[in-house]
Amino acid sequence: MSLSLNRSPLAAGRAWCRLACIVTALGCVIVSGVSADVPKAPAGEEFIGSIAGGAIHPPLPAPPRRQGEGLGPFKRLVIRGATLIDGTGAPPIGPVDIVVEQDRIVRIASVGFPKMPLHESRRPEKGDYEIDATGMYVLPGFINAHAHIADSDQGKVGEVPSAEYVYKLWLGHGITTVRETGAFNGLRWTLNEKQHSAAHETVSPRLAVYAGFPVGANVPGAVSTPDDARRWVDAIATSGADGIKFVGSPPALMKAALAEAKLKNLRSACHHSQFAVARMNVMDTSAWGLTSLEHWYGLPEALFTDRTVQDFPADYNYSDESNRFGEAGRLWTQAAPRGSARWNEVIKTLVDRDFTMVPTFTIYEASRDLMREMHADWHDQYTLPTLMRWYAPNREAHGAYWFNWTTADEVAWRKNYQIWMSFINDYKNAGGRVAVGDDAGYIYKLFGFAWVRELELLQEAGFHPLEVVRSATLSGAELLGMADRIGSVEVGKMADLVIVPENPLANFKVLYGTGALKLDDKTHQVTRVGGVRYTIHDGIVYDAPKLLADVRQMVTDAKAREAAAK
Ligand SMILES: [Zn+2]
Repeated sequence: MSLSLNRSPLAAGRAWCRLACIVTALGCVIVSGVSADVPKAPAGEEFIGSIAGGAIHPPLPAPPRRQGEGLGPFKRLVIRGATLIDGTGAPPIGPVDIVVEQDRIVRIASVGFPKMPLHESRRPEKGDYEIDATGMYVLPGFINAHAHIADSDQGKVGEVPSAEYVYKLWLGHGITTVRETGAFNGLRWTLNEKQHSAAHETVSPRLAVYAGFPVGANVPGAVSTPDDARRWVDAIATSGADGIKFVGSPPALMKAALAEAKLKNLRSACHHSQFAVARMNVMDTSAWGLTSLEHWYGLPEALFTDRTVQDFPADYNYSDESNRFGEAGRLWTQAAPRGSARWNEVIKTLVDRDFTMVPTFTIYEASRDLMREMHADWHDQYTLPTLMRWYAPNREAHGAYWFNWTTADEVAWRKNYQIWMSFINDYKNAGGRVAVGDDAGYIYKLFGFAWVRELELLQEAGFHPLEVVRSATLSGAELLGMADRIGSVEVGKMADLVIVPENPLANFKVLYGTGALKLDDKTHQVTRVGGVRYTIHDGIVYDAPKLLADVRQMVTDAKAREAAAK
């Protein structure tokens, strides 16, 4: 998902509204507009409304780290007595002591056998800071492979969620690295956030920044020729972007941009918009050098054998989002069936190309169970009022197609998911890489919580919990080209670690900030257990419950401000 520039009637009359460019979960289409008075934007700033007279603002940047926010890095940090799940797919092992010096893992020592007294002689020397993780689980820092640091357009329905709110939700759920797919708040703004994060001046995960590829006659500074595309890629590479996010594009422009990206060592992600898939699907774009497929569009189209376009009904209108999402839910049944020659050929080709899938199952989940998402456990305490308004049913809003949602739509989507999930599971079994993204901030999905939900959905797709953890860690690092530094708990890697009191392999729900229900057989009471205890990023130890308490306070304060303004 990504921004939509004419989100609400509040925007009517603004220069931006004339653009009527809806960049959405289904793609970017120019609906109408005149470009004569559209201001030019520098490369990477095409999608941020602040250039239109400051009418739309990016989120508040993260403030400087306050006293007590994160401890360390330490000369020598020792985590003791934990069970390790290292992210490679290897089974849990413990008890281990893990030694961190500054921001690096320097030793992982096996210190005994389960349920037996520890071998004190094997234990590393005392650190200048110690964490007793007896009975707890240690995992690599989690990687959010598809994410947005809120959306400036949310400012049309209230205060834009701040970067601090988003980061604390992510870090509070163990996410230490984020691929920002689009930098739709502006490339400069996003790179600035990345810099402060890298210097540990703010409480934030490591950021990899992918600039949104600007296409469409009314996008300021849009590219319209292959030469333009190459120049734009050069410009964002010079600025320091890590990659490009495509949301569909005329094929010649995307092909030129991908060729240039290769020369500049930039990676790429594509959400194949429904407007682009008749001319190019994932078989084409992966051949041109694309790194990853986001969501799923462009994949069923690659599997068509008895048609070349989706079975759009005659009264279909792309601008009617209940049409769009309703019909999308009937798309996978039009693809070649599981196990067919075409199905296997597409899998083999993409695996051979070392291609990555970032399915973001989570972001479409309301389509198969609207009520579940509208009333998720965490909304009351953790979701800002702006976001709840942003999600509400609205014909003129993106991702808010619930105004006519039916039983039949949900049933179709459930079948859609079954086929889609079987493809992703087969892809993994054939050696394909699958990574985990939350794409939160849309369709009732909240930062961090939605990421954990993606783990549950990968398990539903058929992944073993250890395969899920690998997708969440090492596969994400490989996707980013960072597997030499992060993604697994190994000596020499950065000290990005998640410490959880409960076993996530037994129940991924224990990773939710709201925890999981568990019956205590001694007291006969049902309690909530879990949540991440510590998130360690580059050797800095964050108290995860405290980060989430800060988020709850931000939500309480935002509600109070709104009540006072009434
Ligand atoms: Zn997205």
